[in-house]
Amino acid sequence: MSMSEVLKDINNASSWSEASILLGKLLGLEEAVPLPVVRRALRDDFFSQNLLMCRNNPKLLEMLFNDPQNAAYEIKENKKRSNNELLFKATGALVKWSKSGFSKVNEAEFKRRYDICKRCDELVEPSNQMAYKIVYRNAKDRRVCNNCGCVASGKAWITTENCSKPHPQDPELSLWREPLTR
Ligand code: SF4
Repeated sequence: MSMSEVLKDINNASSWSEASILLGKLLGLEEAVPLPVVRRALRDDFFSQNLLMCRNNPKLLEMLFNDPQNAAYEIKENKKRSNNELLFKATGALVKWSKSGFSKVNEAEFKRRYDICKRCDELVEPSNQMAYKIVYRNAKDRRVCNNCGCVASGKAWITTENCSKPHPQDPELSLWREPLTR
């Protein structure tokens, strides 16, 4: 079985915590592995190969888990934005959306966008700010995009929205692979 096949289930996990449990099982551990390790395993083929070679060997795995390079894959802190800033942004997005007749993308397009967000470094737990409680009170997954401050599971439904982060391989596209200039 190829490395990409081995990591496919982990890559398709619905959340980082589910991915960390799956990787733990794959490596023969009873506990979930640290999140920076999961994130690195999905992006660094050499590292994921080393993890698999050390499968069922907790001592060697521990050394890999403690590799200082894993720090680059730490989850980012939620950027602090004021309630006014968040409400202003949400109002702007609402006006833009209203001009499109509140159109939503279809289920498949939502899933495509949202799956990208779920694997993105920018997706973090929301702060306890009032604006999130007001605007996104019905969202099932209230995790927030650290790049724009939106709740990704809500934003991904809205036709007029786009991820604002450029794609590393094509800066004219967003991470959602949609034109940034539209
Ligand atoms: S909107 Fe873009 S930057 Fe934000 S979480 Fe989604 S993919 Fe990442």
